[in-house]
Amino acid sequence: MPVFDSRSFMNHEQVVFCSDQATGLKAIIAVHSTALGPATGGTRFWDYAATHSGAPTDVAISRGEQDAVYDVLRLSRGMSYKNAMAGLRLGGGKSVIIGDPKKLGNAELMHAFGRYINRLGGSYYAAEDVGTSPDMLQAAASETDYVCGLEGGEFGTGDPSPHTALGVFEGIKAAVEHRLGKTDLNGIKVAVQGLGHVGQYLVNHLRGAGAEIIVTDIVDANIQAVLDGGAATVVKPDAIHAVDCDVFAPCALGGGINPATIPDIKATIVAGAANNQLEREGVEDEDLRKRGILYAPDYVINAGGIISVESEVYKERLDDAAREAKVLRIGDTLKRIFETSDREERPTGIIANEMAEDIIARASEAKLAAE
Ligand code: NAD
Repeated sequence: MPVFDSRSFMNHEQVVFCSDQATGLKAIIAVHSTALGPATGGTRFWDYAATHSGAPTDVAISRGEQDAVYDVLRLSRGMSYKNAMAGLRLGGGKSVIIGDPKKLGNAELMHAFGRYINRLGGSYYAAEDVGTSPDMLQAAASETDYVCGLEGGEFGTGDPSPHTALGVFEGIKAAVEHRLGKTDLNGIKVAVQGLGHVGQYLVNHLRGAGAEIIVTDIVDANIQAVLDGGAATVVKPDAIHAVDCDVFAPCALGGGINPATIPDIKATIVAGAANNQLEREGVEDEDLRKRGILYAPDYVINAGGIISVESEVYKERLDDAAREAKVLRIGDTLKRIFETSDREERPTGIIANEMAEDIIARASEAKLAAE
């Protein structure tokens, strides 16, 4: 499909292709919307060519580059929706750096990338994402003020993962109350897929609330870290989605909710941190709905991290209690989505998209009127 007509592109304000011969930098910065504020979203560093063999195609760009464009556009639009639904003064954007971060991700390349971010004059703020580390972002920050999620400094908000986990925990509570009529998680069985930064914090919250935990990861050390903290049933990675439980919490990679996995899901709720859990929006969430499974839209439930970062973009001081209160609002937002979905008998993912699009459209109109 032509780029401008694709759903991923959908009204992007600006997409910038960046290259720097001296360092080998090849990057794309996508600014989907600045209606609500500066477009803010992570920088993904990914070897797109390696995941696609680099075979020639009938399009003018290679398959790897095609994947990079698709990824940055889809993720950038997703950030607009996430930030809108979280009630933030942030628009949506995302950037990708093409290549293997282990081979290319040195300070010089990140400096070059920082200079490109700087040229956008604050319409885009970069943060950490898959393949970029706090050190790499710090290197970019030596060339620009438009980087957030940094450790230390006057306004630095640091690791977003604990805030993301708190939001997911709150979202699980809201889903359990809505679907199972229970106001606590005592005895509720939760299957957590992926025990990385977010998954481990989430397990701690769930344990504290008396939930029964079933876990998996592809890295044994991550499973051991969770077992060191208390009891949990461990299953193989390919079995977690089919576990007999109340809540399935995907906290690993995206795409785990697809036609192959949906028939096996026994949970009545899918609610987890992973981005892009559905293979196709409006398809898998409708399949889940028809099977009586409540799906908490991923970008709504996993917004705790970006909620925590907002104050850094605006150079505001926010104490822990105020930050936590903002994250806890995720539960109320989800309740509104669940109620609308029930009333209109339509999937939660589509309801959330429509709510987000409405917020962005109204902000765009207000911005135009003020100009
Ligand atoms: P992470 O890389 O620290 O953890 C992911 C974990 O999943 C790792 O332990 C990995 O070994 C495991 N894993 C990978 N493939 C697996 C598989 N097939 N089966 C089981 N386990 C598998 O990432 P994270 O920061 O914890 O983020 C988790 C998810 O939440 C990601 O999709 C991320 O995009 C999303 N997310 C994270 C944040 C945040 O604040 N960190 C914010 C929003 C969304």
